[in-house]
Amino acid sequence: MIDLRSDTVTQPTEAMLDAMRSATFGDDSRDGDATVQKLEALAAGNTGKEAGAFLPSGTMSNLVAMLAHGSRGGEVLVEEGSHTLNAELGGISSVAGLFYRGVPGRRGAMDLDMLREAVRPTTRNQMGTALIWLENTHNRAGGAVLPLAHMQSAYELAREHGVPVHLDGARIFNAAAALGTTAKEVARHADSVCFCLSKGLSAPVGSVLCGSSAFIERARAFRRMVGGNMRQAGPIAAAGIVALENMVERLPEDHRTAKRFATGLHAIDASIVDPATVETNLVRVSVRASGRKAAEWSAQMKQRGVLVSPCATWDLRFVTHRHIGDAEVDQAIRAFADAWKQFGTADKRR
Ligand SMILES: *Cc1c(COP(=O)(O)O)cnc(C)c1O
Repeated sequence: MIDLRSDTVTQPTEAMLDAMRSATFGDDSRDGDATVQKLEALAAGNTGKEAGAFLPSGTMSNLVAMLAHGSRGGEVLVEEGSHTLNAELGGISSVAGLFYRGVPGRRGAMDLDMLREAVRPTTRNQMGTALIWLENTHNRAGGAVLPLAHMQSAYELAREHGVPVHLDGARIFNAAAALGTTAKEVARHADSVCFCLSKGLSAPVGSVLCGSSAFIERARAFRRMVGGNMRQAGPIAAAGIVALENMVERLPEDHRTAKRFATGLHAIDASIVDPATVETNLVRVSVRASGRKAAEWSAQMKQRGVLVSPCATWDLRFVTHRHIGDAEVDQAIRAFADAWKQFGTADKRR
């Protein structure tokens, strides 16, 4: 099976398994653990922040960030296709007690005029803006990269109004690679940032939330509140350290295979995907012209040895990662071409 459902399917490397075996087993919730502390310091350094806190998932990191930024009852301004509004089950309101306003965007970047109009103070008649939320790379926008100039403008706007900015940087290292810069430069335009070790970086579990020391102190309390303290987390932190030290530099390889895949699909039917829109390791494709829905496509591809997830009625999301080389890409393209011919109904209707 060629698994293109997500980069979370990546297995730990041999170096990770070795590091896990020799990790410390301190109780991170009691006296602290040296390996966890090393990972947190490394993550803070790599994102240019003062401190970091190791968490079990990206979803929990986002939730803890919302809690730690405070302002219960305030409004979060966030691009309407964001992961937090679409895939985190409403924790933003039900747990963090925040309201939100989805701001329309283009390729994951909020319309800056609309964002400017939406920022407002708290008065006795309205909730003020509590937080501005960015996501880079943007998942639902097919791994689109927010340009640094966009992030800078959003951050400047936020600062004018004394509003903090959080960056959901689950794939920030993919963004940095695509921009030809560092995660630190990307995270510069945000007060807090979290990223996943468990995706393209191949670690089995974990995310790190980074920000100022005071912010991370508050985050540690909220992490405990939501059950995110992990006790003897040394072994998984050890894999995370290897992820940061060894796995970041190979990410452009996943971007290259994603582009190769998109180019192959485009050749089958130009309506499927425009390879120019593929900036990182996500390839969002439309199967509308086939006359068959994405869920049916997913089943058909599985029969042909390729796993892929539907992400909308007519859209599939393919994700390249460390276990996908040119051979797998080409085989997946052939499977798709075969399904398009055998199973697509649109041609017969025309
Ligand atoms: C994957 C992802 C998350 C959540 O991470 P989990 O570890 O799966 O909870 C959050 N935001 C974005 C943009 C993601 O892609």
